[in-house]
Amino acid sequence: MNPDSPIPGRIFNFAEIIEDRGDVAVKVSLKCTCGCKNFNVHYLGKKGTPFLSSSIVKTKHDDGKRIVFTAKCNACKNQILVYDSFIDGRENHKNTKNNFTGKYCNFNCDNCNQNNLNLYIAYNSCGKEELIKQNIFNWKDCFEEIFISGVCAGCNKAYNALLEE
Ligand SMILES: [Zn+2]
Ligand SMILES: [Zn+2]
Repeated sequence: MNPDSPIPGRIFNFAEIIEDRGDVAVKVSLKCTCGCKNFNVHYLGKKGTPFLSSSIVKTKHDDGKRIVFTAKCNACKNQILVYDSFIDGRENHKNTKNNFTGKYCNFNCDNCNQNNLNLYIAYNSCGKEELIKQNIFNWKDCFEEIFISGVCAGCNKAYNALLEE
């Protein structure tokens, strides 16, 4: 494993690198510490337009709402907080005035109706040197962009854009 891959600390133990682009980009497959790669997905946030993409959560923070994406292991039920717009990334968008506390939505495959996904996460970063120059020493936690995609474990339908931030 590349020691300088920009994988946030919270995800590191659940990440299996599938594309290594040094300290500026990485793509990982989510893998529970028990070895399972099938996850139940729940999210807070708005659903994208299915006609334009298969996004379930897509936002540019224009409304200040909280976006959360969680994955629960199908085998051992360990819950992984994959993304929280209030705490993750370089420019997180803490907005106490509009703390979205709505109900978590279930992801259900629109083909087979199962909530059982293999998940892939891509991170883009400004890079170690650049961020350390800005005194951002936890630079791996300060990614610029995150893209989550998935494949339904039930029917193999691909979801290319589950979350884009
Ligand atoms: Zn597990
Ligand atoms: Zn399916």
